[in-house]
Amino acid sequence: MGFLSTLGLRPPGPPRPAAGGRFRIDGVTVINPMHGRHINASLQIADGVIADISDVRSEQSADFAGCFALPGLVDMHVHLPPDNALKLTRHAALSYLAHGITSVREAGDLDGTSVDAARRLAREGVYPVPRVISCGPFVGAGKPTFRNTILLPDDSDAAADAAAISVKATGAGFMKFYDGLTRRMIDALARACARHGLKTMGHVPAALSYEDAGIAEVQHFFGVPKPQTLERETLLNRSCDWHAVDEQRMDAIVTATLKQGIANTPTIVTNYCMLSYRDFAASAREARAQHVPPFYLDVIWHPERGRFNNRLSRDYLERQVVPAIAKKQQLAKKLFDAGAQLYLGTDVAQPFILPGVSLHQEMTLFAEAGIGIEAVWKLATRDAGERLGVPGLGRIAAGAPADILLFRRDPTQSLDNLASLEAVISAGRLYRLADLKRALDTSQAYFQSPLIRPLARRGAERALASALRGR
Ligand SMILES: [Zn+2]
Repeated sequence: MGFLSTLGLRPPGPPRPAAGGRFRIDGVTVINPMHGRHINASLQIADGVIADISDVRSEQSADFAGCFALPGLVDMHVHLPPDNALKLTRHAALSYLAHGITSVREAGDLDGTSVDAARRLAREGVYPVPRVISCGPFVGAGKPTFRNTILLPDDSDAAADAAAISVKATGAGFMKFYDGLTRRMIDALARACARHGLKTMGHVPAALSYEDAGIAEVQHFFGVPKPQTLERETLLNRSCDWHAVDEQRMDAIVTATLKQGIANTPTIVTNYCMLSYRDFAASAREARAQHVPPFYLDVIWHPERGRFNNRLSRDYLERQVVPAIAKKQQLAKKLFDAGAQLYLGTDVAQPFILPGVSLHQEMTLFAEAGIGIEAVWKLATRDAGERLGVPGLGRIAAGAPADILLFRRDPTQSLDNLASLEAVISAGRLYRLADLKRALDTSQAYFQSPLIRPLARRGAERALASALRGR
């Protein structure tokens, strides 16, 4: 970093909070989605907590009068950027907060540095960062996809205990089940996690189907297509090869879900964003891609240079991805109607999945599926907060964390109104959206500067090589 400072290329400073400590917001409509409204309310914030909600008596702080106050959004499946000289965590954090995402669940620390980098920012308290609940390293068996994976040697309780202790030691709240696990291993890990106070979520391993895996909270609807129906056994195919999933299969999934009490985080937006590869160059120029450090487009997501599943042919997109999106929406609606639990996550780090923006896209995909907008809001706030186990998270209530969004127009009436976000209160500090956006623009300009851009590109190539074991 010394080198960059000498060149006058210091990373940009933090946005300034407009309020913090003890302050009041008067004259807002408080909305706890599906749990009522409080019109013309006064919110008292004190040291990161909602101290009181009352009727407005005197309008001392009427800056946001007429606004709609909603709980901060939770993205239940992200991968934070690795920690390095580029300070990517600060940039991603700004992008989350500028879109109203005040909490994230880190669903697998790709290289083992990401979560600590975010926690350090939170501790230092200078740069704002969403609340992070983590899954620590991946837990799998056989050949690991990511370097930061705990490999289970067998399905014994002792091996599962050792894995749970290691995950717990990273400060994680969840264990992320990953590839190569057998049903017996998953059961042993689930027992170990219960003993060590960890919740569980994860992938249905490639060899298993949804109903046979025993995963309590399934990510990406993996295993819905039975393994033998896939074109190939890659992550991409497991995500997209839904040609054999018909009405009957979906109904079987709903039955198994209710019987086993399975929750789902479908991350439909990962498939939706694959459509960006219909025309990569045009997608890279789109407004929403303008807040991503350019090395993602230059290297990581690049159709030729990238190493993820970016080589999506036009034929595959139209033949598999497009119908898979519609079927996943249909299954999400069926599950919702049946009373099964759903969460909204995005898988930020996958191509064109952007911190913040993509949760709005996932909300839209849920709403388009026929789930009511206010119900979608509840899933992305209150339900997520309950799952994460932080008391009061996802609600606007006395004693709850002060994570509050202030909108000029009611975003439970139309998701278009997400664009009317005026301010974000994150852990009790109020940021005006204009300040967050200015900080984000400055940060983006830093990554696009002629000196940083090539450095970042080389760094990204190295980081990619080290996070992935082989090709
Ligand atoms: Zn993921």
